[in-house]
Amino acid sequence: MIHVSVYRYHPGRDLHPGMDRFDVPEELRNRMVLDLLEYLHEKDPSLVYRRSCREGVCGSDGMNINGKNRLACITSVGEVLTGKRELTIKPLPGMPVIRDLVVDQSLFFEQYAKVRPWLINQEEPPPQERSQTPEQRARLDGLYECILCGCCTSQCPSWWWNPEDYLGPAALLQAYRFIADSRDTGTDLRLSSMKDPFSLFRCRSIGNCTWVCPKGLNPMRAIGHIRREMLKKATQDV
Ligand code: SF4
Ligand code: SF4
Repeated sequence: MIHVSVYRYHPGRDLHPGMDRFDVPEELRNRMVLDLLEYLHEKDPSLVYRRSCREGVCGSDGMNINGKNRLACITSVGEVLTGKRELTIKPLPGMPVIRDLVVDQSLFFEQYAKVRPWLINQEEPPPQERSQTPEQRARLDGLYECILCGCCTSQCPSWWWNPEDYLGPAALLQAYRFIADSRDTGTDLRLSSMKDPFSLFRCRSIGNCTWVCPKGLNPMRAIGHIRREMLKKATQDV
C-alpha cells in the first residue's frame, strides 16, 4: 500500500486544519498524483482540489507534493514517493487556503496585472503585423511558456515575507517577457514602477522559483535580466 496524507480544511466545519490519512493500492504508483486524487475523491467526495486540462497546460493543479510545489497532473506517484511509500499533499504554501487543496490566488494575479502583461506600443501598426526577426523571436523562448501556475511564487521565501510588496518570480518573469519583446515600447514604464526596494529588488537569488518551475523556466535569470535593464536605464538617465 501507499500511505497518503492530504491537507484538509473546510471553513465553517473544521475549527483547525489537519491531515487525513489514506492507504491506496500500490498500482497507483504508475499513475499521476492527479489520478490518485481522483481515486481519493471517489472514496471521499468532500475532498476539494482544482484541476482542468490534465496536461500541464492550464496550471490549475499546482500543489505541494512531498515538500515541493508541482503540478499534480504531470507528477508521477512513483517519482515522488519516499522510501516508506509516503506521499504528503498540501496546498501551495504562502497563499490563503479556501478549502483543502484550493488556495486563493487573488494577490498573485493582482501582482501579475501590475507588470502590465500586454504589448505596449502606441505607434501606428503596420498593415499586416508587427514582424520580428527569428533572433528577436528567439529572445522570448523560456518566457512565453509560463502557464501562471504560481508554483514558483508560492515557493519563494522573499514572497512569503513580503507578499504585498514583492512582485514575486512569476510576475517578474512575465514582466521580462514583454521587456524582451522587440515590438514592445513599455520598458521604461515597467522599470519605473519597480524602482522601489521591494517590487523587484526583494529577490535574494535563492533560486527556489527555478527549482520548482514545472515548465523548466528560469524566473531567477529573468529577474537578473530586469536588474541589468534597470542598471542600463539608470546609467542612461545620469
Ligand atoms: S514561471 Fe513556471 S512555476 Fe512560475 S508561474 Fe510560470 S510556469 Fe508556473
Ligand atoms: S530567486 Fe528570487 S524570486 Fe526566485 S525564489 Fe529566490 S528570492 Fe524568490
